[in-house]
Amino acid sequence: MGKVTGFLEIDRRDRKYLPASDRIRNYREFSIPLGEEGTRDQAARCMDCGIPFCHSGCPVNNQIPDFNDLVYNDDWREALRNLQSTNNFPEFTGRICPAPCEAACTLNLEDTPVTIKTIEGAIADRGWQEGWIVPEIAARRTGRRVAVVGSGPAGLAAAQQLARVGHEVHVYEKHARAGGLLRYGIPDFKMEKHHVDRRVKQMEAEGVTFHYGCHVGVTVTARELAESHDAVLLAGGAETPRDLPVEGRDLDGIHFAMDFLPQQNRRVSGENTDIGEPILASGKHVIVIGGGDTGSDCIGTSVRQGALSVRQFEIMPMPPEKENKLTTWPNWPLKLRTSSSHEEGAERDFAVNTVRFSGSRGRVTRLHGVQVDSSFKAIPGTEFELPADLVLLAMGFVSPVKAGMIEDLGVALDGRGNVKADMQSYRTSIDKVWAAGDMRRGQSLVVWAIREGRQAARAIDEALTGASVLPR
Ligand SMILES: Cc1cc2nc3c(=O)[nH]c(=O)nc-3n(C[C@H](O)[C@H](O)[C@H](O)COP(=O)(O)OP(=O)(O)OC[C@H]3O[C@@H](n4cnc5c(N)ncnc54)[C@H](O)[C@@H]3O)c2cc1C
Ligand code: SF4
Repeated sequence: MGKVTGFLEIDRRDRKYLPASDRIRNYREFSIPLGEEGTRDQAARCMDCGIPFCHSGCPVNNQIPDFNDLVYNDDWREALRNLQSTNNFPEFTGRICPAPCEAACTLNLEDTPVTIKTIEGAIADRGWQEGWIVPEIAARRTGRRVAVVGSGPAGLAAAQQLARVGHEVHVYEKHARAGGLLRYGIPDFKMEKHHVDRRVKQMEAEGVTFHYGCHVGVTVTARELAESHDAVLLAGGAETPRDLPVEGRDLDGIHFAMDFLPQQNRRVSGENTDIGEPILASGKHVIVIGGGDTGSDCIGTSVRQGALSVRQFEIMPMPPEKENKLTTWPNWPLKLRTSSSHEEGAERDFAVNTVRFSGSRGRVTRLHGVQVDSSFKAIPGTEFELPADLVLLAMGFVSPVKAGMIEDLGVALDGRGNVKADMQSYRTSIDKVWAAGDMRRGQSLVVWAIREGRQAARAIDEALTGASVLPR
């Protein structure tokens, strides 16, 4: 613990954002770093609690009090080494993790948790600036070939871990570039894509081979892959979106969020791929249905494209402004979360349901909705309608895509339709086939995907060589 009285003397201060009026003119990141001294001060607030709940709040179990202490003592290089021992990609999580560690921080009892995510991001960014992050090339080769299907955070973390212990790793990705939802879902204003490119380069230098435009189950069969490799890891994400089957759903102008967001990310990066019919919010009344992260990303993107108005619908009632500190496990303390995209000018409606869409000449023009009670039943007399030229469905994802790879393999699924594998062995019902990330656990977070990729890599390494030095 760096400064014993730090938490008493220093107030919580986090990264600020550029003003909304400036940041919505482009798609660049807009957080302003705290700087070396500011980060050091915030690290000094960590109390190194006897039981650091942040450790288990963080899905990759980052050793948070340790790196806080190292930053306070100006040993950034050791802080980076410590951080990278648990997290392959801290510059990703330092930008886009919802930071469950901060909800778990003891100082959160006073609503002033340590700014853990900001400190993590600062350590990683410093590591890149100083040239401390370099390829870690395996000293010897095992001669074993591993196929990783999908280059999202789960696939990337697994591939990096496996290459570092000497396996010949091939990543098969159906898209033109690596990153999964880091690249095509999460907008550039939350995380610019050069962060992903840099890691891909590092991994290539570590011996990972990326095969783009390779759609397993379509351009190559999963069985062929299993035959030509010693192990196959399925890390294809949970890509089947939840639909809204109401009257008028088939009108033009109603799209899934993941038909809309990747187009903009491809425009920003100049990816030379046919994006199909452009879906644009410019000059339109936009309604985003779904109150989560994906919905926020649709808001920020619509605002940047020049929407006339943006509204977000959430079927759940509005949560309280402050969480109930007496909430106990396993309940999650609910509180109203306002994202940077909300601040950019969206109206939010809670406890509302969409009843139907109407339009003219085949295009949507109006959304018809109703207020609902706590059991989602329509409240009579609260029916309303709103202009809607573009409706974006952001109600989450139900499961992985079954057609193609999963059906090809005939792999067993769990009750929710995800690939069945436990969190120790990550083995599926098919010999030589493992699964990790959203494909195994269902729609989740980047940090969970990294954890599963790391753990699956260890399980595969153990199965192939009889033992593993990779951390669990
Ligand atoms: C719009 C949006 C915003 C989000 N924002 C956040 C956020 O801010 N913070 C956060 O923590 N989480 C966020 N999430 C969730 C997070 O992105 C995911 O939980 C995480 O990316 C899952 O990682 P994954 O590697 O399991 O799968 P994915 O990232 O989905 O990657 C799967 C990869 O597999 C490829 N693939 C699939 N099938 C095949 C096949 N048959 N052959 C070849 N390749 C295949 C896909 O093309 C993709 O590249 C967001 C999700 C969305 C949709
Ligand atoms: S990865 Fe997420 S939960 Fe873990 S320390 Fe970083 S911000 Fe916190």
